[in-house]
Amino acid sequence: MKFEELVKIVYDAGIVGAGGAGFPTHRKFSDKVKQIIVNAAECEPLMMVDHHILEHHLKPLIDTLNLLIDTIGANEAIIGIKGKNMHLLDDKIVSSLAGTRVSIHEIPDIYPAGDEVVLTYETTGKIIPEGAIPVMVGVMVINVETVYNIYKAVNRKEAVVDKYITIGGDTKEDITVKAPIGMKIKELLETAGYRDLDDKAVINGGPMMGKLVDLDKDTVTKTTKGLLIFPKTHSIVQRKLRPMQMTLKRASAACCNCRMCSDMCPRYLLGYDLNVHKTLRAASHSEVHDAEAFLQSALCCGCGVCTVIACQQDLDPQAISMETKGLLGKHGLKRQNNKAPEKVRAERASRLVSSQTLIDRLGIRRYVKDKVERRNIEFSPSEVYIDLKQHVGKPAAPTVKTGDKVAVGDVVARTAFEDLGTTMHASINGTVKEVTDTYIAIGR
Ligand code: SF4
Ligand code: SF4
Repeated sequence: MKFEELVKIVYDAGIVGAGGAGFPTHRKFSDKVKQIIVNAAECEPLMMVDHHILEHHLKPLIDTLNLLIDTIGANEAIIGIKGKNMHLLDDKIVSSLAGTRVSIHEIPDIYPAGDEVVLTYETTGKIIPEGAIPVMVGVMVINVETVYNIYKAVNRKEAVVDKYITIGGDTKEDITVKAPIGMKIKELLETAGYRDLDDKAVINGGPMMGKLVDLDKDTVTKTTKGLLIFPKTHSIVQRKLRPMQMTLKRASAACCNCRMCSDMCPRYLLGYDLNVHKTLRAASHSEVHDAEAFLQSALCCGCGVCTVIACQQDLDPQAISMETKGLLGKHGLKRQNNKAPEKVRAERASRLVSSQTLIDRLGIRRYVKDKVERRNIEFSPSEVYIDLKQHVGKPAAPTVKTGDKVAVGDVVARTAFEDLGTTMHASINGTVKEVTDTYIAIGR
C-alpha cells in the first residue's frame, strides 16, 4: 500500500487515538518514524479494553503493524505490555514473532506506564524532549484499539462507529462492551444492567485521569474507554468535585513546600524541568512574576502521582497543573526554554509507583475483580448525538442537514483534509434530527 493511500483510509475512517486526547492518527504517520510503539500498558486501574482486544485479536493487530512498518518505512514495532498481562496473549502467536519486525516488550507494573514519555523510555530507552512529540525521536506511539481500528478500516472498510468500553468500579461485575458512538452514557449503563445510580458518580476514564460524567448530557465518544462507577462519597469523586477556587485556597493554606510532588513526578524523574510545587505555589499565592512556574505546566501529562501518591497534605497539584496547562493552551502561550534530557534522574528507580500501591492509595482495592468479562450486548439506542469535537484539533463541520437519511458508516461531518482533525460517521441507521455547532443528532 502507498503511504498516501493509508493516510487517506485512516482519515476517511475517522481514526483518532482511542484513549487520551484523541490525536488524529493519520497525522502521526511520517517517514521519520522508525519505531512504532503500541501502548498496551492500560496503566489506569480497573481498565481492560486494550487487554481484551489483545486477547481476542492479536493476529490482526500484528498483521496491521507489519502493514504500518512497510507503508510508513519504519524498522520495527514494539508492543509494550506489562509482564503480569502477558498470559492474555496467544502463546503460539507470540512465539511466531521471534526474529520478525514485531516484538513484545515487557514493561514494569508501574503507574503511569502508559504515558507516552514513560512508555517510550521503558521500551526504547529514548527520552522525548520537553514539549516535543514522539516523532522527534523517531517514534510513533499508538494505542491498541487504534491499531485495531486501522485493521478494520483497511481490511473491512469500516469507519469508527463504535467504541470498546470497560464498565466497572463499585459494581457486582465488571464488563467490557462495544457501544455505538454518540449513545447517551446513562442509557448505555442502564441497558448493560447498571441502573441503581442514585448515590453513585460515574467517571469517564480511569480513576486518576478520568472526568466526572454528566449523566443527563454526556455521550460515548471516540476516546471513551472506561465508565467507572463509585459512591458519590468516595474520595476520588470528592476530589474531582472540588471547585478550583477551593483547591487553590487549600493549597495556599496548607502547602509546606516540601516539594515531594515534584520529586515523585514521573516526568521530572525522566529529567524534565517540571517542578509542580512551584506551579502550585505561584497559582495559589498569585505570584504572577514567576512566569516559568506557570509555563512549565505545559510539560505535565496530568497523571496525578503528585496528588494521589506524593502529597501528604491532601492537596491537589495535579488539578492546579492541568488548569494552568489548559489556560496556556487557550491563550496560545508556549514555553520557550525546552530541553532534551539526556538521562533520567538517579533517584528514579527508587521512586517508581507500583500499580498495587496506587490501588491501595486510591482506596479501590475492594473494587478490583478477579475477572472482567467481555460481553456482547446489542445496543440499539433510539437516538445518538455525534459530537463534532471528539479529537485534538479543529471540530468537524457537518456534511448533512436536518431530515437527511443516514445509514451506519455514512459520513456526517469532517474536517478539511489539510487541517488537524478527522471524519465523523453515523453510528445508527436513521434520520438527522438536529444539526448544531457542537453535535449532530440522529434518530431512528
Ligand atoms: S500530574 Fe503531577 S505527577 Fe503527573 S506529570 Fe503532572 S506534575 Fe507530574
Ligand atoms: S507535596 Fe503537597 S505539601 Fe509538599 S510541596 Fe507538594 S503540594 Fe505542597
